Amino acid sequence: MPTPSPSSQHAAIRDPAVAPRPLLEAFLSTNDASCPVCAYNLRGLTAVHCPECNAPLSLAVTSENLSVGPWSLAIVSWAMGAGFDGVVALLVSIMLIANPAPIWPPYALVAMFVTLALICLAAITLLVRRRRRWAFKPRATQWRWALACLFGVFLAHAAIGAILALNLK
Ligand SMILES: [Zn+2]
Repeated sequence: MPTPSPSSQHAAIRDPAVAPRPLLEAFLSTNDASCPVCAYNLRGLTAVHCPECNAPLSLAVTSENLSVGPWSLAIVSWAMGAGFDGVVALLVSIMLIANPAPIWPPYALVAMFVTLALICLAAITLLVRRRRRWAFKPRATQWRWALACLFGVFLAHAAIGAILALNLK
């Protein structure tokens, strides 16, 4: 049997049919809990909608390991790299189509930025496919990896930019 992804597990638990209303009522009868949408105190609530903002409510078991913050930062870091490399490759390609260069360096530049964009896209694919393995890491470790992605992508591009600037003088 295939194991469900963390997000689908989370969705299943949040499904009111799986976490029935009596559990929500029992929890709110003895606990203060804010509406996740409007922050209204739901203690004592007997409905499945927030009385203040009418948002549907459900009881959920979740984990801070599923926090989207570090995972999103890692994805965005690589996506920025892919976007930058893709735009540069496209602009240089358009320039070369308009004015074909008799020498190789501009074509090598396009090949290099296409390769960099593909590396960034491969990293995004890997992150998406390993979402479950990522969730097994403690949140602090996830943030360290996300910051490593951010600074890694930034420093790699800064280094390549510096090398190009020195060689294109
Ligand atoms: Zn509300």
